[in-house]
Amino acid sequence: AIRIKGLHKSFGDLEVLKGIDFTVRPGEVVCVIGPSGSGKSTLLRCVNLLEEPTAGTVTVAGTEVTDPDVDIDRVRRRIGMVFQSFNLFPHLTVLGNLTIAQRRVLGRSGAEAERIARENLKRVGLTEKESAHPAQLSGGQQQRVAIARALSMDPQLMLFDEPTSALDPELVGDVLGVMRRLADEGMTMMVVTHEMSFAREVADRVVFMDGGVIVEEGTPDQVIGAPQHQRTRAFLARVL
Ligand code: ATP
Ligand code: MG
Repeated sequence: AIRIKGLHKSFGDLEVLKGIDFTVRPGEVVCVIGPSGSGKSTLLRCVNLLEEPTAGTVTVAGTEVTDPDVDIDRVRRRIGMVFQSFNLFPHLTVLGNLTIAQRRVLGRSGAEAERIARENLKRVGLTEKESAHPAQLSGGQQQRVAIARALSMDPQLMLFDEPTSALDPELVGDVLGVMRRLADEGMTMMVVTHEMSFAREVADRVVFMDGGVIVEEGTPDQVIGAPQHQRTRAFLARVL
């Protein structure tokens, strides 16, 4: 679970998050939507402390990550993060990309890391690509490798920041399909996305952000189907 309380984040004079409170329960899929610059990525980055909050607390699986005494590397290795750009190591094979952190960070043996890597390649439908290098894969395949790499670290939760927005339209479906299966398997997920049909079908809850605050949240039927606020309606009119 993720518990966010009174979260504020400023960059200099610019206040980007202006008091965010919400909880992601175990096994829940929460989609975060909202206009560009509303603070969605910053919110996600505060959950694994890629950004340090200015005020407030973030608790992940019972550990307050904003506590200055916490070993953040330890917490972070249990949080999977997938970005718009795939950030694979270009000089390593797919299998190498999936095993390196398992070995270096978790201390797994080469054989154990490869076994777990192959399990996760199977989960994302790329078993036959283990010897390929990233440049030999499509964007959608690279993103599925990035997801498999995150899964190989046994994450307690997965954070996704617009994982399909750099992809050609015909490659989006495979990546969303992998994410949908993860959701069905009960993974706790926080997903920033512009894919409204994915949010509608997969999210347990949708959070609409604008100007650094949560304007409204609820089930997809509530927030996307019957938005209560004018700002939400105006945003949806632009993206739907
Ligand atoms: P998008 O949909 O375009 O990805 P977003 O909702 O993810 O937008 P953020 O990336 O969280 O928005 O940015 C929110 C605001 O914070 C923007 O005004 C952005 O310019 C500012 N910002 C983000 N990161 C930094 C930073 N490291 N330094 C200064 N300002 C930043
Ligand atoms: Mg963003």
